[in-house]
Amino acid sequence: MNTIAILNNLGVFFKKYPVQELEQALATRGYKVVYPVDEKDLMKLLEMNPRISGVIFDWDTYSLDLCQQINQINEKLPLYAFANEHSTLDINLADLRLNIYFFEYCLGSASDIAHKIEQATEDYKDSILPPLTKALFNYVDEAKYTFCTPGHMSGTAFNKSPVGSIFYDFYGANTFKADISISMPELGSLLDHSGPHKEAEEYIARTFNADRSYIVTNGTSTANKIVGMFSAPAGSTVLVDRNCHKSLTHMMMMTDVVPIYFRPTRNAYGILGGIPKSEFSREVIAEKVANTPGATKPGYAVVTNSTYDGLFYNTQFIKESLDTKFIHFDSAWVPYTNFNPIYEGKCGMSGEAMPGKVFYETQSTHKLLAAFSQASMIHVKGELEEESFNEAFMMHTSTSPQYGIVASAEISAAMMHGNAGRRLIQDSIDRAIRFRKEIKKLRSECDGWFFDVWQPENIETTECWNLNPNDKWHGFKNIDEDHMFLDPIKITLLTPGMNEDGELSTTGIPASIVAKFLDQHGIVVEKTGPYSLLFLFSIGIDKPKAMQLLRALTEFKRGYDRNMTIKSFLPALYQEDPQFYANMRVQDLAQGIHDLTVKFQLPELMYKAFDVLPEMKMTPHDAWQQELRGEVREIPLSEMVNEISANMILPYPPGVPVVLPGEMVTEQSRPVLDFLEMLCEIGNHFPGFETDIHGVYNVDGVYKVKVIKQ
Ligand SMILES: *Cc1c(COP(=O)(O)O)cnc(C)c1O
Repeated sequence: MNTIAILNNLGVFFKKYPVQELEQALATRGYKVVYPVDEKDLMKLLEMNPRISGVIFDWDTYSLDLCQQINQINEKLPLYAFANEHSTLDINLADLRLNIYFFEYCLGSASDIAHKIEQATEDYKDSILPPLTKALFNYVDEAKYTFCTPGHMSGTAFNKSPVGSIFYDFYGANTFKADISISMPELGSLLDHSGPHKEAEEYIARTFNADRSYIVTNGTSTANKIVGMFSAPAGSTVLVDRNCHKSLTHMMMMTDVVPIYFRPTRNAYGILGGIPKSEFSREVIAEKVANTPGATKPGYAVVTNSTYDGLFYNTQFIKESLDTKFIHFDSAWVPYTNFNPIYEGKCGMSGEAMPGKVFYETQSTHKLLAAFSQASMIHVKGELEEESFNEAFMMHTSTSPQYGIVASAEISAAMMHGNAGRRLIQDSIDRAIRFRKEIKKLRSECDGWFFDVWQPENIETTECWNLNPNDKWHGFKNIDEDHMFLDPIKITLLTPGMNEDGELSTTGIPASIVAKFLDQHGIVVEKTGPYSLLFLFSIGIDKPKAMQLLRALTEFKRGYDRNMTIKSFLPALYQEDPQFYANMRVQDLAQGIHDLTVKFQLPELMYKAFDVLPEMKMTPHDAWQQELRGEVREIPLSEMVNEISANMILPYPPGVPVVLPGEMVTEQSRPVLDFLEMLCEIGNHFPGFETDIHGVYNVDGVYKVKVIKQ
């Protein structure tokens, strides 16, 4: 981080030589100097190069306006102004948060100035590094030798083995030096919440607007279990979003609770809609309790916010309406909501605490901020019994947590600080909106078909767009007023084949084929529906990546329109079954899958499959215990009706469970089975298009499930 930008009018003789001297003095201290040609060039340089650690400029030529511009980018960046004795100060400068130092032009002072710049750079780094990471780096710098775990001893063990040293060289020395044992008192402890770890949690809580935050080193899968198992004692009733992540099903298998479900809507595209307002009311919940054997008034509720497809709730409404002590927002996909005003009122930590209630927000820091995999956070607002909560936390946490994961969680928070942080999220939003417009533009200019975007007519305003009950674009029936909002950075592209009412056209391009094509071009789609593809514009998506995606989409269109052979257009798919795909062309494949979709009336089937829930015969916990006791048998999927499923059955997509352990698919809920069988059938017809269904096993071409012995 040792690059200094000098913005200087070099034509002026008496300024030229001191600057040259300074460059030499800086070079001897290991600094590089770059010379932007003008202000605009400097701003571009700063925007693109976060490693620049200071700007030197001429106070007489620039001053206020330049300071304001730099401030927008990074208010902590050290600025060095050369001033002569006639310089004046602009009073408006006092309003700016600046980190500025003044120097005079004169020969012979370069070494002193370079020394001061070096100090200021160190102070700058110190001011932006968060507490735990700083302590960890200092610890590594001091190169202490210890005789405890981990056994590789700063990597030494790897370097004694040929294969070990290949591994060591790949990751680099610091990875191993910073991988240290929990017993370093100067770093405190994640499990006891002490020392720099405690400071890190406090820093994170301030950053995310929480009363209390916890760093979780095993993903939101674990964060959800910690929260759920603390908030729902055995025997109690829990209110769970039916579109929940599987970690919450696992939570219900681990602890003996009675689930009742929030019933979300969905549209014909297979996009998971939100939970209607009525589902949060006392009356509807009381009715569900009355209809569920063993259920009592729930004390804990969990809602997925945002949904997988990027729909946020009006969380203020949920917090006010829901009559449970603990309200948990599973926000694994949206750790960035606190850093842009468009998410205000749509996330767990916005707004104030409410007496008698505790709000949680669990976030996968690694999913959409910058952190190592598995970095996750639990944020809490409200009064929590911390000692007991910590028991639940420790129950799910290794006694040897990975410091790298912990530090990366803290860094992700630090990255969100100040103008530099806000700009990162704003840039993502702007980039996503530009991409949406670009798709619309290409669509209007294209001959024939092109991809469409799932969004309102008008996206001129930067906001989370309201799903208005009177609008048609979203395809949801009876949606509530002022309740659901679409996140601009979650982009769902639509392929031809179906309209928003679920009417299938005679021809179509199933999205799974596009996903295969993109995959071959190094682009991984987040989620693929029958005629929809989901892309996330996280802060890691830069302009080249967005361009590459656009280019791949236009290339798909070209190849499709020219009706290329599968062999040349989708070589990896061809390899899955060269005989089957021998003479097939892409339009035949698309039409083949589309025809199956029409034959099975997929949109309607999918809608119905989620419309009538299977019947709960025993709790997920009891079903799991039965399985552990061996009280299960394997039967063909097709014979599932009137049997109790031992496992959770969860197809990808849509990635949410359709049958939970202990549930029976009855005659009324038969569409669930029809839906699963159809997914299997598409896979049987077209090699390479098998749907991954958790809980269903393909045994020699027959799909099997585990059911409880009755
Ligand atoms: C991904 C996800 C999780 C689990 O998060 P990990 O960090 O992968 O463990 C939980 N809930 C939802 C809604 C998710 O999408």
